[in-house]
Amino acid sequence: MKFSELPLDERLQRAIVDAGYTTPTPIQEKAIPPVLERKDLMGIAQTGTGKTAAFALPILQNLLQGGDSKGQKPIRVLVLLPTRELAIQVSDCFEKYQKYTRLTSACVFGGVSDLPQKRALSRGVDTLIATPGRLLDLVNQRVVSLKKLEYFVLDEADRMLDMGFIHDIKKVVAQLPQKRQNLFFSATMPPEITKLASTILRTDPVRVEVAPQSTPIERIRQELYRIDKRRKGALLKEMLLEHPEMKKVLVFSRTKHGADKIACVLEKAKITCAAIHGNKSQNRRQEALGNFKTEQIRVLVATDIAARGIDVDNVSHVFNYDLPDVPETFVHRIGRTARAGREGVAISFCAPDEEQDLRAIEKLTRVQIPEGDKAIFEKLPPPQKETPESEARNARWRTGKFGGRKARGSAENKPQKEKSQAKPQATQGKPQAAQKQNTAPTPKTHTGKRLGSRARRRLREEQARKQQQGA
Ligand code: AMP
Repeated sequence: MKFSELPLDERLQRAIVDAGYTTPTPIQEKAIPPVLERKDLMGIAQTGTGKTAAFALPILQNLLQGGDSKGQKPIRVLVLLPTRELAIQVSDCFEKYQKYTRLTSACVFGGVSDLPQKRALSRGVDTLIATPGRLLDLVNQRVVSLKKLEYFVLDEADRMLDMGFIHDIKKVVAQLPQKRQNLFFSATMPPEITKLASTILRTDPVRVEVAPQSTPIERIRQELYRIDKRRKGALLKEMLLEHPEMKKVLVFSRTKHGADKIACVLEKAKITCAAIHGNKSQNRRQEALGNFKTEQIRVLVATDIAARGIDVDNVSHVFNYDLPDVPETFVHRIGRTARAGREGVAISFCAPDEEQDLRAIEKLTRVQIPEGDKAIFEKLPPPQKETPESEARNARWRTGKFGGRKARGSAENKPQKEKSQAKPQATQGKPQAAQKQNTAPTPKTHTGKRLGSRARRRLREEQARKQQQGA
């Protein structure tokens, strides 16, 4: 089937040609006709399958058929998404597809000033693309009214639930008129998603599934490297230096601080990269994403939440630097490569304490990940022995001064709680605490000045070395 065979307005057809699409993807082929017939739809599709166009194009077609409304436009379409990046991405798609029409859209999300968003809304828009928190904010401020809504799209529903948006979703749904068309998309369909869908969709929705549930896209070649946690950085660096064909590389880290650390290791090796996570400002995240898209940087290191909205074409390699403890997350991660019919490679590092996560992933995906070429290990520097200093430094990374390694499975935006929970460990590992027991009072220079931090650290390392030699 070709797009030209679909009953879409000539203005949309022109935009589709401009976007470079000729053939609808399977989800588009299955979803566009029933949405045009104004049926409710439940779409089970992973990201990268073309699902945005699958709902945006028929909705725009239906809006065009309804004709332009006179005066201030009411919001007729709401697309709800879990992250700002995803909202921006979907908003870009709407703009791309409606560019030859007079239909308009706006995008609202948190983390930035709401003034430009309010200004855009004041002109009246047909479609609003939003994240739940900011949308409710604007509804409460009476800047947004959803009373005239005709189409409601809930995208990435499983992720919404993972991120704790269930109550916000319910509040949004309570604002919507009873009579509306609903489109519900999720990559996975665990029972709680089915339950949520049943509260939103009208009876007998059309069900469209494009890939077997929780099965990674077959085109992805996978490799597994069992490696000690402390050598993962060296392995990643070595692989990137060895393989120039790894051009557009997405590296997943479980924690924000882990992501920063990885970026630091790569930068030292002169590998262009950036890290994105919840602690980075929206502008920094957008800048990093832009540089990655235009290939000004080779590697993007991201946490799962920050990466959720990444739609970058041609990601050649996905690295699971840490394995996720939620197996479905693994499926989302590796789905970032092998998009739009291309090949892709997913490489997973597994430390001894991640074996259980690996087993859960292999069970869910029903794929045993083959081990990669072990020859690469010979190229790595020998594993460093832990010194009291490095132990202390690691403890600080994990728990204290440099942030906090959060408990597994925790949402990434709860650092305060995690930090305070981790504190007792931090003090145990503090080098200063150890120092106090076996060193003289604060060391001074020969002129009597207090030593600088670098000199003090060197002194401590020297003392630790001597202590070890003595032992
Ligand atoms: P999505 O799953 O909606 O995030 O789309 C993933 C990518 O596929 C986006 O970059 C789209 O521009 C692209 N895309 C969507 N539909 C098609 C199509 N029919 N032909 C080629 N590329 C497409």
